[in-house]
Amino acid sequence: MKLTILGCHSATPRTNTNPTSQVLEIKNHTFLIDCGEGTQVELRRNKVKFVRIKHIFISHLHGDHFFGLVGLISTFKLLTREADLHVYAPKGLKEIITLQMKLSDSWTNYKLYFHELTSDSSELIFEDDRVEVYTIPLDHRIYTNGFLFKEKEGERKLDMNAVLNADVDVAYYRKLKQGFDVEDSNGNLVNNKSVTKPPNKSKSYAFCSDTAYSEAILPIIKGVDVLYHESTFLEKNEKLATPTKHSTAKQAASIAKQANAETLILGHYSTRYDDLNLFKEEASEIFENVELAKDGKTFEF
Ligand SMILES: [Zn+2]
Repeated sequence: MKLTILGCHSATPRTNTNPTSQVLEIKNHTFLIDCGEGTQVELRRNKVKFVRIKHIFISHLHGDHFFGLVGLISTFKLLTREADLHVYAPKGLKEIITLQMKLSDSWTNYKLYFHELTSDSSELIFEDDRVEVYTIPLDHRIYTNGFLFKEKEGERKLDMNAVLNADVDVAYYRKLKQGFDVEDSNGNLVNNKSVTKPPNKSKSYAFCSDTAYSEAILPIIKGVDVLYHESTFLEKNEKLATPTKHSTAKQAASIAKQANAETLILGHYSTRYDDLNLFKEEASEIFENVELAKDGKTFEF
């Protein structure tokens, strides 16, 4: 999995910082997560091929998370895109985007599908043979979801020495990878585990922005490999976090620790802070493996 941070700051675009947007490359998919103003510029800067993006996940309808979307949809059209585009977002986004397209008479020439979300419980919103995506209902001022991206378990791997020693016909290799016992050339049963190795561990990534501190998400993100959790404020400004339904770095670390996450990535920083290292210092007191999101930074896991 490869995560590219296109923008990780709250509120407004500024000269050197962008509002929220990320690209997750997972099992040959290129998923766009949130689409703040300026996202298409950052996609170009980070050399993400537009044509690869077929699924866009929008957490909520605050502008710093989706004001770049209509521009991106329009650019796809100008680039004569033909592939379908699926957008997963809170109910209301379809109305906003179609009104903009209608009044500017700029309908797309490709198929645009809106999957509008309304549930307050976690639900499976995308699945194929490689990946599953679930919503993570968050606690914010308006209806908001995070997203959990999970690789499906792959096939078992052949232990070629053992396979050859066991004298298994090549026609059975497929069955072995699928976990079945097979017969050798003399008709004796070959135990699958004696000639195969477990598949690579399937990884998971949870995106949680924007949200107040919420232990309700713990059962959904338990054991996640990488957790992106917003930390708009430092603990000294906790009084600002509560009414705006945002989190502090300390709170994000507490969630990561309770969820038993492998790595925590912090982001969605308020523009009031110049020294972002303070976020890492604060979170590191509670949780060991803390990373700071930064526009243009990539994480591979
Ligand atoms: Zn928000």
